[in-house]
Amino acid sequence: MRDNPQSPDNKGPIIAIDGPVASGKSSVGLAAARRLGLRFLDTGVMYRAVTWLALRQGMPVTDANAVVKLAAASTMAVDCGSAESAAIVIDGHILRQELTTAEVDRSVSAVAGLSGVRRALVQQQRDLGADGSIVMAGRDIGSVVLPHAEVKIYIDASAEERALRRWRQQLDSNPAASYRETLADTIRRDTLDRQRSDSPLTVANGAVIVNTDGMEFPETVCAVLSVVRGVCGVSAGPMTER
Ligand code: C5P
Repeated sequence: MRDNPQSPDNKGPIIAIDGPVASGKSSVGLAAARRLGLRFLDTGVMYRAVTWLALRQGMPVTDANAVVKLAAASTMAVDCGSAESAAIVIDGHILRQELTTAEVDRSVSAVAGLSGVRRALVQQQRDLGADGSIVMAGRDIGSVVLPHAEVKIYIDASAEERALRRWRQQLDSNPAASYRETLADTIRRDTLDRQRSDSPLTVANGAVIVNTDGMEFPETVCAVLSVVRGVCGVSAGPMTER
């Protein structure tokens, strides 16, 4: 990778990727990070880990005080260099597939709507981004977490197309999964993320919108890489496996 000409201290670039549920920002962000030789952080796993821990302790996610205390007191470790980007350790529990259960999906937006939870997690995300050379994906990365990011991208697609992608994935583990229910859940989560008062999902100032309706995965990665190239002139290595 060439040095980033816009980074005065010669740190690699910060690339913020935001977007709604199942827009592909995590898989595309990880692939782009690998091509560019950058670290990758999917911030969604941090909100999911807090949600998992609250549910495990039998805590109602509507109990804002308790959930915020839990988020502030828990210790988290995310490996930003790992190919398995979705792994996270919270209070000694190593979580992977536990993060994407229907139960966590149902409750995570309520947890992410709590300002105290966001304060605790955003600080950790900023610390992880402080050294640059990172692609960070989420809902508020370009707007709140790293507003000085050199590159901001908002990945979008219609709710129908995003629900179709989620539904196809769900069929692997649950052949009875319903597309209609997945679509309704996708719209419900998007609405909660867009309407919350603290750090709602939005297109950050200066973000380039990449609409992936009808696009295959490699095409979306190329679109993201060409935005990065256009903004900070870094070049990518060869395409590797997803
Ligand atoms: O990206 P993912 O779907 O895994 O994120 C799970 C949830 O975490 C989102 O629906 C959203 O409520 C929350 N989230 C957030 N801010 C982020 C990342 C995720 O509010 N930066």
